[in-house]
Amino acid sequence: MTLTMTENKMNKTYIENGTVIAWINGAHTVIERGVVVIEGNSIIEVGAHTAPPSASDTRIDATGRIVMPGFVNTHLHVTDTPYTKGYLEDASNLSPRANATNYGTLYKTLPAVRHAIDPEAQVIASECAFAELARTGSTTVVELGYDYEVGGDGDISITEQIAQVAMATGLRCYSGPRYRAMHYGHAPGGKVWYQSYPENGRRRFRDCVDFCIDWDGRYDGRLRTLLAPGQIDTCDPDLLRETRRVASAHKLPIQIHAGQSPNEYERIKTEYGMSTVEYMIDTGLLGPDFMIGHGQILTHDGNIASLTPSEAAALRDYQTTVVHLPWVKARRGGVINSIHKYRQLNIRQALGTDTYPFDMFNDMRMAATVCRIVEHSIEAATSVDIFTMATAGGADALGRPDLGRLAVGCKADVVLVRMDTFKAAPTYDPFKFLVLAATGEDVDRVLVDGKTIVEGGLVLAVDMAKVVARLNNAASRVRANVAD
Ligand SMILES: [Zn+2]
Repeated sequence: MTLTMTENKMNKTYIENGTVIAWINGAHTVIERGVVVIEGNSIIEVGAHTAPPSASDTRIDATGRIVMPGFVNTHLHVTDTPYTKGYLEDASNLSPRANATNYGTLYKTLPAVRHAIDPEAQVIASECAFAELARTGSTTVVELGYDYEVGGDGDISITEQIAQVAMATGLRCYSGPRYRAMHYGHAPGGKVWYQSYPENGRRRFRDCVDFCIDWDGRYDGRLRTLLAPGQIDTCDPDLLRETRRVASAHKLPIQIHAGQSPNEYERIKTEYGMSTVEYMIDTGLLGPDFMIGHGQILTHDGNIASLTPSEAAALRDYQTTVVHLPWVKARRGGVINSIHKYRQLNIRQALGTDTYPFDMFNDMRMAATVCRIVEHSIEAATSVDIFTMATAGGADALGRPDLGRLAVGCKADVVLVRMDTFKAAPTYDPFKFLVLAATGEDVDRVLVDGKTIVEGGLVLAVDMAKVVARLNNAASRVRANVAD
């Protein structure tokens, strides 16, 4: 039987009458009373109507809404973050030259909490975290798990269950189960100890690689994977070289934690006689598919202006992305010095939440504010620059020009933000409102792959009361197990 034109045609979704942030000539651009037309999982039209909707098409009225691309949240941990509440917020004082004593949260508190989380509690935490991410407008999330000696002994089935939770929530997810050769801890006197795993962690590495290859592209491509060697100072050089080889062979992105503390910088210097960036060059990590999570202390003084010309050129020319996590630093007094300096060096940048709240609006505001304080200048971080980092910046880091933008051919990952509120009205400049005033609570509707997953601020696939009760129950068990 031959299909007629009408039978063959897919129904479309028209998002109409909103203030649309369209991607035009390589920049986010505001279109008042614009339209976004979706067919299947893709955007087929942005701007003004060219053809009116037919009776069978879905129409979403976006009057009083900003229609923006979903955030590409490039660094977070869903399995442990909820249980860190109450432990990490006010702890430790951080300054660029502080010794390891001042990084008690990184080397002592965080491992202590992670050791207390059993596998079931990890999955329960992920239900809440993924729901919060969807609720607050992150449509693509890069989940980096945590380290394998704790909570389940590196059983890869935990990663599989967590990927399934992300998919059930309706998100687009890059899953990066972490591996490393050694772990670290806090020794008396402000020193950090390092201890190798059996086989230098290679069993876990092989499991992670198998998972990444096997699961990449599932769920119509909503699930992707990446390689996540834990930290630059907990992987041996061979593990990093092998990571690069596998990533290139299987076209998987890589993200590592680096530039987190002065101790880490000193450790690389002492062990390998190189700066952190030189070590990344030496092990072959740098590339357009490589992300540096944190990137705060990559120089002897924590100032990006202190990168040598060859270090700066390497980061730029390899098109490596630095993923900034401003809130987790700022809440303990730490700053990136700075987004502006990275931009002046033409080094690619993205944004992630890392800790809670999993709210990219919070991190956009913090990124802008911290940079302006550090640089004594508002021009150092404009609202549209920061918004671009949080969307297209993250998409580029993942090699995805079809994400983080509202343009023809892009995936239909769309967020509607209320501006018919006390706080928002009148909205002269959507970028200034989004970066400097809005929060995730202002998100009204979220679509991923053309499907609505949040409506009226409710995450459709998740019963909040039930999931929160389950988390609280698991948290009392975890808390009882946290060692002093
Ligand atoms: Zn992290």
